[in-house]
Amino acid sequence: MKVPVVTEILKANDQVATENRELFRGAGVGVVNVMASPGAGKTSLILGTLARLSDGIEPAVIEGDIASSIDADRIAEEGVPVVQINTGGNCHLDAPMVRAAMSHLDLTEVNLLFIENVGNLICPSNYRLGEDLKLVIGSVPEGHDKPFKYPGIFAGADVVVLNKDDLADVFEFDHAEYERGIRMVNPDVEIFRTSCRTGAGLDSWTAWLEKRLAALGTGVGAA
Ligand code: MG
Ligand code: ZN
Repeated sequence: MKVPVVTEILKANDQVATENRELFRGAGVGVVNVMASPGAGKTSLILGTLARLSDGIEPAVIEGDIASSIDADRIAEEGVPVVQINTGGNCHLDAPMVRAAMSHLDLTEVNLLFIENVGNLICPSNYRLGEDLKLVIGSVPEGHDKPFKYPGIFAGADVVVLNKDDLADVFEFDHAEYERGIRMVNPDVEIFRTSCRTGAGLDSWTAWLEKRLAALGTGVGAA
């Protein structure tokens, strides 16, 4: 009889996520839920994106980690408002955690919010946070089989970024196979290849993100 309990938890989470979304929309903030396994480059991609944003975009970041403020400290060094959530062992963020973190940000000063989820390819995809876009970051060292092993997170993605693409030859990474795995569960999703180390692909990814968030009617790109 555990299944109904889980269903109730997800329903309660969805309710708060919907409220979060309304609050974000009301404040003119576009929100990206950043999901990936540990070490794929979530923080690095956020930093690389922050460095390329157009004038007029005012970013903030919510960092979710089981422990530590290492990533939040890296964001803060760039002068970007950041709130750290330590989940204390929980392997994903949920909407109430984001609600608590939101209260530490002045949303009137922000129009783009990245929420860096806990590094995990499984349950983060089950918990809506109030985001406009779900970004899944893969990385070359994880291997091209990941979409086949963790289809759920790729199925729910609005955009996939394959990071550490500068290592593709070293790891004999098969891009066609990787993209085939993604397309099996998410035929039309946008896929980018990046390297946060070399900067490759970051300009086109950032330009797409801004355009997409503007098209969704968020505060990004609003005059
Ligand atoms: Mg990180
Ligand atoms: Zn979890």
